[in-house]
Amino acid sequence: MTTPLFAEIRDEILGQGPMPLSRYMGLCLGHPTHGYYRTRDPLGARGDFITAPEISQMFGELVGIWIAATWAAMGAPADLALVELGPGRGTLMADALRALARAAPALSPDLHLVETSPPLRAAQAKRLTDAAPTWHESIDTLPERPSIVVANEFFDALPVRQFQRTERGWFERLVGLSADGTRLTFGLSAEPDPGIVASAPAGVLMTLPGPALDITRALARRCVTHRGAVLAIDYGHVRPGFGDSLQALAAHRFVDPLAAPGEADLTTHVDFFAMGRAAASQGALVHGPADQRDFLFALGLRERAERLSSQATPAQVDAIAVAVQRLTDPAQRGMGSLFKAMAISDPASTRLAGLPPPSSA
Ligand code: SAH
Repeated sequence: MTTPLFAEIRDEILGQGPMPLSRYMGLCLGHPTHGYYRTRDPLGARGDFITAPEISQMFGELVGIWIAATWAAMGAPADLALVELGPGRGTLMADALRALARAAPALSPDLHLVETSPPLRAAQAKRLTDAAPTWHESIDTLPERPSIVVANEFFDALPVRQFQRTERGWFERLVGLSADGTRLTFGLSAEPDPGIVASAPAGVLMTLPGPALDITRALARRCVTHRGAVLAIDYGHVRPGFGDSLQALAAHRFVDPLAAPGEADLTTHVDFFAMGRAAASQGALVHGPADQRDFLFALGLRERAERLSSQATPAQVDAIAVAVQRLTDPAQRGMGSLFKAMAISDPASTRLAGLPPPSSA
């Protein structure tokens, strides 16, 4: 399928040669007029994918409980900024604020949303009117204050670079054009990257996060300077990983990531190992990661489901049970263990709810 973005990418490749995967991902997701997130609300049954807060209100409510507990652990600062990165439809935050009002009535958080998508900002404005949020294009303009930051399925949508090992070293994976100029194809850089020294057998593919680590380092510095914590929930891996996790989703199906630039969601597994190291390098504590399943059960998912079910119709009771199953199923295609929760914090917040203690604390 040719898309408006395909024509632009083709012209750029014709002019400047094949582009790094990070440039391709950046254009597909964030191009000002044709980027995937700039042009649509991709969430929900009629969209391209569904996320945990869209599966059940319990997810956001438990994040709200986590926020209340973390705020208390920080010594209940009155000037807390509550921040969400990539809030989607605002569902998680709406559910979290409801739970937060009950769990921490003394807290009236100042809400800040980092969101680049105009259609999703509009959805957030509708859901979160009462909380009067302030929007930001990036984390650079967030207030310099004690903060709690949450991010669900945000880091997986940031561009990555990939490198392939050959007998002659690590070559960067590039997006180029087929010989007839009608299709995009994957290729490799002409020369190996001298900066990469990891040893691996020929053929192995390595994914290097870029913006995800820059953002993690900046958030970690903010935590250390102003106090605070960051909760990232996403699908990913906890060991330094080799392998290709680039995937494209459209209408809930996997599609070729090069077939329809700007029309499919592109993501990669989040490298929690690298994110943890990036946070630790700034002096922040790293809590977890834990499997999403363990995190949600530790915060009281079972009890919450029972309480909701006790006031529900039989059909609603079934739906609640299905939601619990979807959020915690450890099977390969479920969210329970593919998804992880990890937090980083200032050095004084040595224990955060639902997560194993930092190894260095
Ligand atoms: N957290 C929501 C939505 C996840 S989809 C949920 O769980 O349902 C990814 C979100 O990140 C969307 O809101 C998208 O618009 C936003 N996003 C993607 N790239 C971004 C970027 N570079 N800066 C800010 N927000 C971004």
